[in-house]
Amino acid sequence: MVIKPVIARMNLILSRQRVNGEFVRKVVELSGENIYACYQCGKCSSACPFVDKMDLLPSQVIRLVQFGDERVLNSGTIWVCSACFTCRAGCPKGIDIANINEALRLIHLRKNIDHVKLNKLKRTDLAGFPQIALISCLRKYSS
Ligand code: SF4
Ligand code: SF4
Repeated sequence: MVIKPVIARMNLILSRQRVNGEFVRKVVELSGENIYACYQCGKCSSACPFVDKMDLLPSQVIRLVQFGDERVLNSGTIWVCSACFTCRAGCPKGIDIANINEALRLIHLRKNIDHVKLNKLKRTDLAGFPQIALISCLRKYSS
């Protein structure tokens, strides 16, 4: 499966409402992570073994969350993350990006938009399908 960059150029207007908004509050609540501790050192992005399959670096995902930019929900990165915890091991602030990505997937799934029709997937498609995406698709039917 080829993951297309969905956020090629990001024009962002910062506002107090957005930075302190419901989206950021939800990510913090669901992930349990202190997203504000991240100071963008980039160690997570340089350590992530799946970064070449991502359209946003793990550190960029956190940055967009800090800014309250919900376009991060359209990023393929949150589905590619395999929760390997490599980034957490190297993060000087002890931030677990896997938890943040999981929170973003949950927020995305709770919107109940069907991007993947499981019954329409061919075996050949499944071979390149990220495991975590498949689990999330199935979880939708059990929650
Ligand atoms: S390693 Fe930690 S502090 Fe550095 S950019 Fe990644 S999440 Fe932020
Ligand atoms: S937990 Fe996710 S973001 Fe972190 S290194 Fe592993 S794949 Fe990359």
